[in-house]
This record gives sequence, C-alpha cells and structure tokens, in this order.
Amino acid sequence: MATKTQTVLVVEDEASIASFVSAYLKNAGYGVRTAATGGEALRQVAAEKPALVVLDLMLPDIDGIEVCKRIRQESDLPILMLTAREEDVDKIIGLEVGADDYLTKPFNPRELVARVRSILRRATPERAARESAQLKHGDLVVDAGRREVKVGEQEIQLAPKEFDLLWELLDHRGLVLTRDQLLERVWGYTFAGDTRTVDVHVRQLRRKLGDASPIVTVWGVGYKVSPARDAA
Ligand code: CA
Repeated sequence: MATKTQTVLVVEDEASIASFVSAYLKNAGYGVRTAATGGEALRQVAAEKPALVVLDLMLPDIDGIEVCKRIRQESDLPILMLTAREEDVDKIIGLEVGADDYLTKPFNPRELVARVRSILRRATPERAARESAQLKHGDLVVDAGRREVKVGEQEIQLAPKEFDLLWELLDHRGLVLTRDQLLERVWGYTFAGDTRTVDVHVRQLRRKLGDASPIVTVWGVGYKVSPARDAA
C-alpha cells in the first residue's frame, strides 16, 4: 500500500500497554515511536511528524484531552484516543477535543490496528481531491479546500470528523445514508463498527450549526440532508 513506512506515535504511560500496542503495530508494518507523558508526546509530534497518534487519556502530566486539543490547534494529524471510561467518549470525539476515533479499554489489539489502518487510509487523498470544492445548503457554506464551515458570515469550528461527516451528507443530499455506510465513508471502517460514533458526531454538528443544521434523522435507518433548502 504505502511506499514508505508510516510512523505511529503511541502515547501511554503504562509500559505493558504501550509495548503490546507497539508490537501489534510493528507487526502490521508501521514504524512505532512511544511517549510516556503528554509533554513528550507534544515534543515528538512537533519534531517527528508522525502519521498518526494513538493517545491514552490518562497520562501523568498533561492529560490526553489537553494533548489532543493542542495538536488540533496546529494540525489535522489523525488521533485515535484510548479511554477507560465510556462516559468520556462524547467529549473526546466532540467539540473541543476533536479526536478522529476512540477505543475503550480493554480493547482488542487487532481492532486497534484495524482502526489505525482505516484512519490512515482516509486521512489524506480524499481531502486533497476535494480541493476548492464548495457545498451550500441555505445559509450554510462548506468549503473543502479551506476546511471551513460558515453559517452566513459566522465561521463554525468543526472537529475533523464532524467536517467529513457533514460533507458526506451534503454531498449525497436527498439520499439516506445508514450509520454503517457513514462509518465506512467517513471513518473508513470495512467492518461493522460502533455506530454510536456516528450519532455522537451528528449530535455535535447539530449543536454547533443550530438552526442551520441540514441533517435529518431517518428513524431506524440513518441520516440524510434534504435537498429542499439548496442554494444555487
Ligand atoms: Ca495511561
């Protein structure tokens, strides 16, 4: 697939978890670096430019959420968060934090590798292909090249997957997309994943976009954007 080895930075202070995650990733063909603190993670992200970060929530110095936020201020670098608590999930992939995906501990290392592969497969080519494309819906304007969303004159800050999800729905307006289809198209899953991720992102999008949200729930099926409010 990739011609040059992609490097994954594993950020986890528990040595046993860091080492088995690293072993599975190396076995899958990735280069692996590790960091045991948030501070070290930020240093490595700045210096080494990894392709993806596996980031534990609980770290001894700066917690994973803060690390994720700081990375997000600089870049769209893909981030897979690890958490021990299901309650943290909304926060992690939502509003301020903006991780690409998450796994709840304990997790199957094969699933971690599958998620890493999915995220990386989706990370770059499609975004580049959409360069300069723009989709509109009423007052809502989504600019793929700038990765910018506006309602009227007001810019709305979206997490990367919120942006991708909104784009996917707008780009297929009028069609109902099931949660599994959205997982596959936005997150790159080729297996039946946890569709709660989709619902959490839709909820966040609605909250951020308010009345300008074009997303309609089709009960028992999935989501769609109605074609009715199309602007030219
Ligand atoms: Ca930890």
